[in-house]
Amino acid sequence: MPDAPIAPAGHSRFGFSAAERWLACPASVTAQAGLPERPSSYAQRGTRLHEAAAVALLRQEDAATVLPHDEEGQDIVQPYLDTVRNARARLDGPGTVLLVERQFRLDLLHAELWGTSDAVIVSPAYRTVWCADLKTGAGHPVRPRRADGSINVQIGGYALGALLAVPAGTIIDTVEATVVQPLNGGVMTAVVGLAEMADLAADLLDGVERALKPNPVFLAGDHCRWCLAAPTCAAFRETAFASAQLDFAAPDMAATLTDPATLAPPDIARALTAASLLDDWITTIRETALGMLQRGEAVPGWKLVQKRGRRRWRDEEQAAAALIAAGLPKHDLYEMALLSPAQVERVAKRRKLDVPLGALVESISSGATMAPEDDPRAAVQAGAALGFTPQPDT
Ligand code: SF4
Repeated sequence: MPDAPIAPAGHSRFGFSAAERWLACPASVTAQAGLPERPSSYAQRGTRLHEAAAVALLRQEDAATVLPHDEEGQDIVQPYLDTVRNARARLDGPGTVLLVERQFRLDLLHAELWGTSDAVIVSPAYRTVWCADLKTGAGHPVRPRRADGSINVQIGGYALGALLAVPAGTIIDTVEATVVQPLNGGVMTAVVGLAEMADLAADLLDGVERALKPNPVFLAGDHCRWCLAAPTCAAFRETAFASAQLDFAAPDMAATLTDPATLAPPDIARALTAASLLDDWITTIRETALGMLQRGEAVPGWKLVQKRGRRRWRDEEQAAAALIAAGLPKHDLYEMALLSPAQVERVAKRRKLDVPLGALVESISSGATMAPEDDPRAAVQAGAALGFTPQPDT
């Protein structure tokens, strides 16, 4: 049973969830102060899935119970619930506690350094603090260690808070930082010692001090995608355009674009990196404009319209009866199809049946796609990319 209530909602200028941004760009703290949140259906869905996951942990329920009409959401939340419960069982012992949506503060370093973790287990028996972060998206991979090998700052912040909150006399010498991102990489854990946690504490304090100095530095990069100031930030815009070698002020923009077929491989690699930054910038522009229109503010040349409607039966039973009465045979109105393996697994679980699917299922990739070099998936040989061999599902 979880041992803590859900924490109250709230935001901090120096929240752990935004630490990647404010550590990289000290000026972003003041640049985005007071700006409204951008509406994002992805963010709203992420919040909903996190709330469902917390409720499921607190009530000891499965994802199918808390998200009965959202099978995709169940496939994201259930692996997280399984991961937390397995860790809780593995680290069980006298004094072990599971803390769900608990707020952790680093008041010793700075009063605004705090954040709300998804799940933390404190296990005196194993001298371990275990932290999990659920990532519900697929687009941006999150790993328990950053590209330079240091611990993920967000999870590390929660772990530091948990280390400072353990009762006097409790000895902890190990931190396990786990990311659960079912749509991009699955479950990954980094084991961290106290010396590395001390380094993180020093980095966080240094980041706060750099952000609070007069005229802090602007530094654009991947982290800009999460910054509310991005739509109007000159540093972000200039970096994105410069790396793409574009000049949006040019009278004839097409004339400034280079034919990709003439680019050398290093230039193509640079352009791909730039494309990611430009994507982020364009997304922030769209989200900002949508927010303005939704608030009734004018965006010259643009308006809000209804999305295209999709026809559906007002009442399926009434419609079927009317159609059969009109002469349509019943077997022409209904179709019967086998559920997908994931759906069958859910049905079997609901019925408490152990149905081995292994030999019945195969995974067929729809083809090869591009990914950065640090993506956890194995690289595909160029020839194999053209004709995928079905792999047994394990
Ligand atoms: S958009 Fe990027 S460069 Fe500009 S303030 Fe935000 S994080 Fe800094």
